[in-house]
Order: sequence, then structure tokens, then C-alpha cells
Amino acid sequence: MKKSLWEETSSKRNIPEKTLPKKTDICIIGGGITGLSTAYFLKETSQNIVLLEKGHILEGVTAKTTAKINFLQADIYHKIARQSGILKAKKYYQSQKDAISLLVHTIQQNQIQCDLEEVSSILFAKEAKNVEKVKKEEALLQKFGEKTKPIKSDKIAYGYSVSNTYTFHPLKYCNQLLNHLSDATSIYENTLVYQVSKIDHGYRIFTNHGNLDASTVVVSCHYPFFIFPMLTPLKTYLKRDYVYTCEIKETPSWTAINVDSDLHSIRFYKNHLIYATKEHLLTDLSTEENAFLHGKKSFQKLFGKKPTDSWINQDVYSHDHLPFIGRVRKNENLFVATAYNAWGMTNGTLAGKIIADLILKNESPYESIFDPTRKSIPLLMSSIIGSVPYIKGYLSPLFSKEVVTKININNVPHFVILDKDGHKHFIQTKCPHMKCSLLWNKVDETWDCPCHGSRFSRDGKLLMGPSKENIEKDEAT
Ligand SMILES: Cc1cc2nc3c(=O)[nH]c(=O)nc-3n(C[C@H](O)[C@H](O)[C@H](O)COP(=O)(O)OP(=O)(O)OC[C@H]3O[C@@H](n4cnc5c(N)ncnc54)[C@H](O)[C@@H]3O)c2cc1C
Repeated sequence: MKKSLWEETSSKRNIPEKTLPKKTDICIIGGGITGLSTAYFLKETSQNIVLLEKGHILEGVTAKTTAKINFLQADIYHKIARQSGILKAKKYYQSQKDAISLLVHTIQQNQIQCDLEEVSSILFAKEAKNVEKVKKEEALLQKFGEKTKPIKSDKIAYGYSVSNTYTFHPLKYCNQLLNHLSDATSIYENTLVYQVSKIDHGYRIFTNHGNLDASTVVVSCHYPFFIFPMLTPLKTYLKRDYVYTCEIKETPSWTAINVDSDLHSIRFYKNHLIYATKEHLLTDLSTEENAFLHGKKSFQKLFGKKPTDSWINQDVYSHDHLPFIGRVRKNENLFVATAYNAWGMTNGTLAGKIIADLILKNESPYESIFDPTRKSIPLLMSSIIGSVPYIKGYLSPLFSKEVVTKININNVPHFVILDKDGHKHFIQTKCPHMKCSLLWNKVDETWDCPCHGSRFSRDGKLLMGPSKENIEKDEAT
């Protein structure tokens, strides 16, 4: 997979290998911004904390974000208000403002050097037909007490800006957050969790390095690896974005995002322009290469130069536009945090605080709005409608004929791939997670699951996503 600007400009933390203990008080699964924030906000507790990461920490979605710290999230408040009422929209707005304060306070209090910059942020419509969306969002923000400033530009149909938003370097932030965890926190890398089961007085966590018992478990692995009881595949969907960068002379102090069907998300970092575009549903993965090339062209058209670097990233979305953060079942100490709708710098930080508050104080002002067990008719309806594109993923796979062919071995469909030395390898065409048909991603040279986002290397090794296994692979012949 292509590396992001953040991975290119930060050094990896060396976490010493240790033997997994048999028991701990709190077990956090996943070493992205959510897992690390949870460990950080639990630092006051004297309880032992174990954080388990299947690969290396900070190599997941957090490494490939655009890292805006922002409450201006396209037209999200209007969407929430339309589906769940204005009170929920206001509560979500407050949660994002609180998350920004929390993140900035954490950075300042701990003197974390992560290139935090206060910027103004612009919401705009490029096309006249979408002006109404921006205006409705502006009216809602003003109702919530936010001040907006009109933007005049002949490149857009309508836009306004807000202040008190930020940008930072996400990996510098998360890496330094590690220096401020409690002494009772231990991190174990290369430790894949494949099951969590209820036992007397807690949970048994099954990993590739043996079992661990904990009284509290936090599942912060982006997309939960278990299907029951959370039913994540029904409640969520994934979208993929393409990010492009180039060097520029100056670094403007603003970010921008639009509401048109073609995403334009812009920010700057130390003489770099960062542009995300061509967002599409993961179930449309067959358009991968086209989307990537179109994104490149769109960059060139907008900024008059070619991008010098690019990367691909995907995030989990909920059908009601609100994340799922909290207890997986009422009165249980199994917590989950997912579906940030591409706003995980604020929501990942807030998730850490909410879960820490629920563990330490048994309450959080945001417990009910983000409750993972919430149910509503509109949520149920959009989950049913949202599941339709998945049917495509279970039908016969579309794949790049230049790179692979497909054959049956003992009646099981296999892809045939050629390695660099011209040797043939045979791997099964189905994702181990829920048997959705895999697609070959020419841009990153990975096998991708269009249903739930698992990604595998050319030879079938699990890279990311909810799968707990590599793709089954037969020996080269
Ligand atoms: C293109 C793009 C741009 C974005 N830009 C922004 C932005 O500007 N601002 C913003 O707020 N948000 C943005 N986001 C969203 C944000 O990046 C994500 O929501 C956030 O990084 C998710 O963090 P996480 O900790 O939940 O997941 P991750 O960073 O993926 O961490 C999860 C970790 O869990 C590990 N794991 C998974 N399964 C297991 C297992 N079974 N056992 C052990 N470990 C496991 C993984 O290896 C991984 O390290 C963007 C998203 C995309 C796609």
C-alpha cells in the first residue's frame, strides 16, 4: 500500500516484544487514534491496561487520514436533523466542539509537538444546484450559535467560513501521546485478536499469542472483527477516498470541504497541499483504477500541476451519520467505537474520553447519542436499503484480466496470480470474513473486500479490516 505524507514524515515507535500476560483489568484492542486516546484518558486509573495490536500501532486508517480537526463536516448537521431531529444534530455539534477542545487541551497540556495549527474552515458548493445545502447547513450552525463569514470566489457557487478549527500531524500526535500513558499500560504488537467471549467476572480474549482474561474490553479496531452482537455489517457501510499531495511555496491557513457529489477536501501542511477526492462506496470497488486516475486529473485541473504523491484510505459510515461509541450490550463491560463517518480525529479522541468516563465514572454526557445499541425506524430502513449494494459483492467477482485469471480447484474458485519471477500462485476468491468476493486493486496491488473493507497483500496476507485470517493460498506450481 502507498505510504501517506504522515508515514513519510514521522518515525516509527519501537515497542519492545513481551510475553502476553494471562490476566489484566482492561484490554484495549487496536492501536489507532481511538485505542491510544482510550488508554490516555484512562491514565488516572491504577488498573492494569493491556493494548493489543494485530500489526504495528499507528499503521491503520489513522496513518492515512487528512487530519483536519474540524466540526465543519460537510452538511452532516442537516442530515442528522432531517433523520433524527434538530436536538440530536445540536448534540452532535456540541460533541465535536468538545472533542476539538479536548484534543487541543491534550496537545497543549502535554506540550505535544505535532504541528497543531489553528485555521479557518470553508464549506462550499461548487455547483449552483447545491447552494441550498450549504445555506441550510449555515442556518443550522447559526442557530447553534456559530458565527459564519461569507466567502467570495468565482470558483464556487456559494461558501462561508468558520473559525476555531485546526490541522495537525496525526502520527506525531499519537506517537507522543504514548509518552503520557500510565505506567500500568503495556502495548503488545503483532497480536491479533480473533474472539472475545464472556466468562465469569469478565471476558476471555483469544489471540494468536494465547488467551488473556480481562474484566473490561474496549474494541477500537476501526471495524469490529466480530459479527454478533454488534451486527456492524448491517449497521454500517464503507467509503473509499483518494488523497493527493504536491509541494507548494506557501502554506495557507485554511481548510475547505464541499457538498457536491464530487468531493473536494483541501488542507495544507508545511508547504504541502493535501487534496482528497473521488469518494465512492466500497461496493463500487470495480471503479478503483478509474477513480484514482480521475482524482489525479481533478487535482491537475484544480491546481494546475500534477500531484507528486498519493494514497488510498477508507472509513466506516453509519446510516444515521452518528458514530457507535459505548457498551455493546447494556450493563456489560464490553465497549466498541466505530463509524466516525470520516471524522475520526474528533470522534476517535472523544470515543477515548467517553469510554474512559463510562469505565471510571459509569456515565458520560454522550452515552445515549452514540449508544451502539440504539434503534430507530429510519435507522432500520436505511440499514435495509444500504445493504442492497452488498448483493453485488457476493456475486461473481470482477477482476483485472491482465494480472489474474480464475480457475476451480476441487470445485472451489481460485484466482491465479503471477509473482515477480513468473511463478503461479492460487488463492481463494472469497474474503475469509463473510465470504464476499474479493477484487484485485491495481493501484495498491492488494486484494480488497468490497463489502467490509478487509485488504490483503498480493500473496493473501491480511493487511487491514475485520478479517481475522489471511486468504487461503495453495502452493505455487
Ligand atoms: C481519506 C480519509 C480522510 C480522512 N480525513 C479525516 C480528517 O481530515 N479528519 C478527521 O477527523 N477524520 C478523518 N478521517 C477519518 C479518520 O482517519 C478515521 O476515522 C480514524 O483514523 C479511525 O481511527 P481508528 O483508531 O478507529 O482506526 P485505526 O487507525 O485503523 O486503528 C485501528 C487499529 O486496530 C488494529 N486492529 C484491527 N483489527 C484487529 C484485531 N482483530 N486485533 C488486534 N488489532 C486489530 C488495526 O491494525 C489498527 O491499527 C479520514 C478518513 C479517510 C478515509
